[in-house]
This record gives sequence, C-alpha cells and structure tokens, in this order.
Amino acid sequence: MNKQVNHIIRCDECGEILSSGHYVEEGVAQNYYCGDCLGKAMTEAEYNELYEEGLAYYTEWEYEPIGVWTLTNTLAVEVLAIEYDIEDAVVIREPDGSIGEYTIQYDTDGEPYIQAGEIRLYFDECMRV
Ligand SMILES: [Zn+2]
Repeated sequence: MNKQVNHIIRCDECGEILSSGHYVEEGVAQNYYCGDCLGKAMTEAEYNELYEEGLAYYTEWEYEPIGVWTLTNTLAVEVLAIEYDIEDAVVIREPDGSIGEYTIQYDTDGEPYIQAGEIRLYFDECMRV
C-alpha cells in the first residue's frame, strides 16, 4: 500500500524523514517510527496487539513534489517540502531517488538557495508543479 502524502513524515523518535515505516495509533496519539526506533517505542507484543486491531501497520509513503529543479534533460531535483523551523529547510528527492534535507541559505543579494553538493539551486529557478 503506497500512500500519497503532501507533508513530510518523520520518525517520532529520531526525526529521520521516512519513505517507509510504521504507523501506530494509540488512543489519540498517532505516531510514526522507523524500523530502528519501533522497538524503543513498544514491545513486539504491544505492536502485534495494535496490528491485529488495525491500529498499527507498516507502509510506504510517496511524497508528491511541489516543485522541480531541472538539472539536465534527464536529471531533476524534486522539491517535496519547505519546512520553516529553527532552521528553514528544503526537503528534496535527489536524482538518485534518495531524500535529502538542506538548509535554506541566502547569497549576498539576499536570494534564497540550497547548496546540494556542488550545485547551488536558486528558489527563483524552481518550477512549481
Ligand atoms: Zn527512528
């Protein structure tokens, strides 16, 4: 089951951005855990009990891009989310499919960009999808 989502899902224990993981509903609490952290949050027996009630399951999430930077004819960087937090960041899907998180920086003219490896990606060059 692939769920399309338009917000970023993070592990509630370690904060890692998840493209797959465990959804757990306990009372009013809805939590997400990566495979490594599930065992810290609950025992296997507790998880199985919730699983049988349909309140816990493993799933994959597919993030819908909100923008795209075209690098070449075949390479693109997709913007999945812009997060305004202590450090403003952009969550992207890199050309190899991995998910990366980059802090928003500003050049001397005040133009916002992210530095992804060697490449500087400016916001005004990003196309909305
Ligand atoms: Zn985790």
